[in-house]
This record gives sequence, structure tokens and C-alpha cells, in this order.
Amino acid sequence: MHHFQYHDNELFCEEVSIQALSAKIGTPFYLYSYATLKRHFQAFDTAFADVRKLICFSAKANTSLAVLKIFSDLGCGLDIVSGGELYRGLKAGFSPDRIVYSGVGKRVDEIDYALETGILMFNVESTIELELINHRAGVLKKRAPVAIRVNPDVNPKTHPYISTGLKKNKFGINTEAAVENYRLASSLDHVDVIGIDCHIGSQITETKPFESALLSLISLISELKQTGTEIKYLDMGGGLGITYADETPPPLSEYAGTITQHLKGMDLDLILEPGRVLVGNAGILVTKVLYRKTGEVKNFVIVDAGMNDLMRPTLYNAFHAIEPVINSKDDLIVADVVGPICESSDFLAVDRSICNVNSGDLLAVMSAGAYGYVMSSNYCSRPRVAEVMVKGDQFHVIKSRENYSDLTKGESLPPFIET
Ligand code: PLP
Repeated sequence: MHHFQYHDNELFCEEVSIQALSAKIGTPFYLYSYATLKRHFQAFDTAFADVRKLICFSAKANTSLAVLKIFSDLGCGLDIVSGGELYRGLKAGFSPDRIVYSGVGKRVDEIDYALETGILMFNVESTIELELINHRAGVLKKRAPVAIRVNPDVNPKTHPYISTGLKKNKFGINTEAAVENYRLASSLDHVDVIGIDCHIGSQITETKPFESALLSLISLISELKQTGTEIKYLDMGGGLGITYADETPPPLSEYAGTITQHLKGMDLDLILEPGRVLVGNAGILVTKVLYRKTGEVKNFVIVDAGMNDLMRPTLYNAFHAIEPVINSKDDLIVADVVGPICESSDFLAVDRSICNVNSGDLLAVMSAGAYGYVMSSNYCSRPRVAEVMVKGDQFHVIKSRENYSDLTKGESLPPFIET
């Protein structure tokens, strides 16, 4: 459920006309609905009402300060994977004791930053990282609260690029080695073992993989208990999918029930790291048709947003519905919707049946709130687009469109180049 709806054939974000908004701020731009963001968080929170839990929004899905602030105000925690995400999270008001830190390649400066900040937990992904965190905590005279990220070797049946819990993936530590790592962690001087963690992948549309991963973690927890290691936090990661086309992810109640049924009688705090499910359908990318072009074997609709603005179709062959902002045309065409970039992989849709648009028409690329703006780049020296948030009948530019001078920010010419 989201708040991008047609009124008399015109697409609105809550009570704001997208056509009118585009006339004011130009295109392309990302557009987020406040009501949708809030509703998604509250629905997720309610689904897990029966257990002790901390929902940590996965910042990587959307690091806009405004989006983060909404979640922090709602009592959400944060899942980070970099020093930069920690910086943004703190700026948006997240309390450090609600922040968990995942990622296979934490640098020393990032570990130090997190230790100084006093985050809730490091999700440790290798033995060498565990030893480094212990060492840095000693140097800084801090204690490092840790969980081991376990790789339970579960197939999440999603795109290979977003599967993370398989043996062949770089993430986490396999179940057998995890026991060994817990033993090591318990013996280290500056580390407190407090949790266990997994994240098996993204855009998962079945409950079974989550359940298999959970059962594997629960059996590990009881094994650890026998050796005297008590686990306080069970972090199930994120990964719940959304509807982009015709996928039917489980309802939140079913997803939550799958997990919570196994936690009865366990003295644990559940942590969840949802990303896509909170923000994906709360945002769209608005783009304008520049040209129509008829190739020998294809129709092309050339728009002003490219793969640098929305990477997902190019990166994962991901599907995004593309809707006309003014829905006045009855006839359909089959076309590739492509951007202005000089790569054949620069497409937003391939062989798509869409309305018969002309130059100047506006299109809404739906479900672009997750892994959209955050993955954008300046490729082909294209300034990053604006981000806008709507609440009711108000709108606010939460990130201004970059201009040409932003493109050369931080650059300088070496003195050894003759002028
Ligand atoms: N947690 C971790 C460790 C992740 O790597 C990711 C995404 O890759 C997430 C949470 C969020 O996943 P999703 O957006 O599918 O909920």
C-alpha cells in the first residue's frame, strides 16, 4: 500500500500533483511519500508487537537524512555498513545504542568511530575482523559488543547478486567455524559477546528461507549456551521482498509469525534490519520523455533519467513499473525505455508495453525508494538528481539537484601540469 495514486487520470503523491511539482523543480527527481514511509514502519513494528525487538532500518536502502529522521523519530534503530552511514545516522538523531554495524570490510578508522560512538553491536564477519575489533577496543580503552554474523548456507531464491547467505558468498562465518569464533571472542579481553546475526539476502518473497536460517541460529544458540556463552540479541537481518511486478511477498503478519513462533520462551531481544520493505514502494523516480525513436527492430522512449540515476535495471535486470504521470492515452506501444548514457545497458525497461508517450510527457518509475538514489553516480558527468518529500499537500526538496560546479568539487590541477 502506498500513496501514489491517480485522481482523474493524474498521478498524485499524497495530495500533491506530480505534474505541478515537476513544473516547479524540473526533472528527473526522486519523490518520497511521508505517509507511506510512516505507515510501512508502523505496520512492520506492529507485526512484531508480541516480542521484545529492535527494528534497525538498513540505511543502505536509503540514506537521505529526511528519511532517516522519520524513522529515528518513530523509535527505529539503524543498521549501518560504513562510517559514512554512522555519520548520517547520528546526524539524523539515532541513539548509538540502537545502531548495529554489519559489513565484511570494516576499516580501522570506521571501527574506531563506532567504538568511540558506543554503538549497540558489531556484526563480525571474519576472525581477523574480530581480532582487530578487540585490538582497537583495547587501544581506545573501550569494550566492543559483538555478534558473529553466521552464514547459514540457505538459498533465499532471489537474484544471485543479492543472495548473501550461501556458502559461496563472502558474507559471515559458516556455522561450524562460528562456534570456534565464539570461543575465541569469549577469550578476548576487550570484547563482549552479546549477539548472533545473519542476513541471507534481499528481495526474498518466501518465508521458508528465513525460517531455515532462524532454526540454524537457534540451534547454534543452544550449542553456545552449553559452553557458557549467553546470547542476548538475535539479529535476523533484513531481506523481505516487495512487489515490483507480480511478486507476492508474504504479508508482514506471516513473515513475523514465521520468526516469532520459534522464539517463544527464549530470553532474547530480536533485531531486524529491514530496508527495501520500508522504503521501496515509498518512492518513485519522475522522468521526462526527451525523444521517441524508431529503430529497425525496436521502439525507443528516450528519457532524461539514466542508469546513473537508477542503477537497478542495469545491475540486476530489475523490473520497475513505469506509469504515465498523466494517464490520458489509451493506446499502448512496446518499447525500450532508455536513458541518455552511451551504454547499451542504460535502460529502465526493455520490451515494455507502455502508453504511447511523446516528448515532454512525464513518466513515474515506480518502487524506486530503495537502492535508488543511494546507488546513483555522476557517470557521464551527470549531476545527481533532486530528492523531494511530500507530506499531505506540502512538498520539500530534501536534497537539491546538483549543478555543474558540484561536478568538479574537490578537484585540483597538479602543479606539474603546465598551463
Ligand atoms: N542487513 C544487511 C546486513 C544487508 O546487507 C542488507 C541488504 O543488503 C539489509 C540488511 C537490508 O536488506 P533489505 O533491503 O532486503 O531488507
